[in-house]
Amino acid sequence: MDEILELDVEPPARTQSDTEAFHFPVPGLSGLSDLGSGFLTPALTGLHRKKSAKPTFPLSPQPAAFLAKHYPQAKPHQWNEWRWQLKHRITSLSVLETMLDLTREEREALRPGRDMLPMAVTPYYASLLDPHDPMQPLRRCVIPTTAEHCILPCEEGDPLGEEHDSPAPGLVHRYPDRVLFLATDFCSTYCRYCTRSRRVGRQEAAQGPTAQGPRRWEPALRYIEQTPRVQDVLISGGDPLTMADHALEYLLQRMRAIPHVEIIRIGTKAPMVLPQRITIGLTQMLKRYHPLFISIHSAHAHELTTEAALACSRLADAGIPLGGQTVLLKGVNDSVAELTALFQGQLRNRIRPYYLYQCDQVRGTGHFRTSVSKGLGLIQDLRGHISGYAVPHYVVDLPGGGGKTPLCPEYLRSRDGDDLIFKNYEGRLFRVHDPVVRAAGHGTGGVA
Ligand code: SF4
Repeated sequence: MDEILELDVEPPARTQSDTEAFHFPVPGLSGLSDLGSGFLTPALTGLHRKKSAKPTFPLSPQPAAFLAKHYPQAKPHQWNEWRWQLKHRITSLSVLETMLDLTREEREALRPGRDMLPMAVTPYYASLLDPHDPMQPLRRCVIPTTAEHCILPCEEGDPLGEEHDSPAPGLVHRYPDRVLFLATDFCSTYCRYCTRSRRVGRQEAAQGPTAQGPRRWEPALRYIEQTPRVQDVLISGGDPLTMADHALEYLLQRMRAIPHVEIIRIGTKAPMVLPQRITIGLTQMLKRYHPLFISIHSAHAHELTTEAALACSRLADAGIPLGGQTVLLKGVNDSVAELTALFQGQLRNRIRPYYLYQCDQVRGTGHFRTSVSKGLGLIQDLRGHISGYAVPHYVVDLPGGGGKTPLCPEYLRSRDGDDLIFKNYEGRLFRVHDPVVRAAGHGTGGVA
């Protein structure tokens, strides 16, 4: 391990004008069309390498065995380089079938010609998949099946009505003081239940000309600059942490230069699917833009590997509060045991479980959706039994743009005169004295 190269060194610092002028093609990445400008992930070229006495990233046994089997020419230091992981994403049936025993439903779903979210999986995440069990939770999250071809009447391409609330391309302004900034449509690994499957991966699949990067961001940035009530910007996508450091920094600089923007948040799944992305250089850059929060999307406790743990700890050590976001998924995490393992595992990794989402009514996701009553039952079974810190808000994002709405089990059961009757987490009933407010002159004991 001594010869592992330090690859966390970023390209030389650029001025903003340098950054805007920084467009060049990326050799070896044909097919990643949203990278075509060279702005978003340009650093496959121009890397500055230096020898390091210490390994920079762990390689746990399962990924190590996978590397040896499927990429015998590659070295551990290459595997641990996030650009190598992006360059070697698994995107085709022909490669995937050398790694997994595919079912007829998986194979059929991967045949070209379907208008669906493309498949892409980083080699790292592929190493976590069970080659023989199609029902393994992680495999269900990223490998398509023909169940995606079943479209229910309630399902839509844009179930949350985001396009309707979009004052500029790539910007959603729904709540009064905050906006969602869709910085890229690219993800390292595509989740089969993605709410934005209408747009993520589409350019990549079409291999069309890119419209991403600073020029596409400009109208959205101008809108934020001209809208003083926007105090909080969530940078999402796609996955913004698939962008090169200097591209992300350009965005952060622009946002920090807007006086009324107080909070910046980043939504990402990178620590779970591409943990190598969380380099020391990235965290050093990010911590220049506090107050900065990161929401980490994770689906199952098996994602919380040694590699993911280091990625989370680097972010937390940079002073970035980490929140967890999880979609409730049938057959993936819809049991008390799976959710307990995930949420307690997140806490151990310094991620505060924040939201558990009812799965949105996205086209072709019916096979993932549980009932709301099932979700409420799960929350009820968690609360009181594990630390409150480990219990997220269970929310449904209302179709058509109604916004996130909390779903809470009923603990307040009834009123009995001046008492309220509560049921606790064990199902036992308790009284709390809570006098009814009475108008003056109507009996005694009124509360002013
Ligand atoms: S990481 Fe997020 S944006 Fe990307 S496919 Fe998964 S859910 Fe969608």
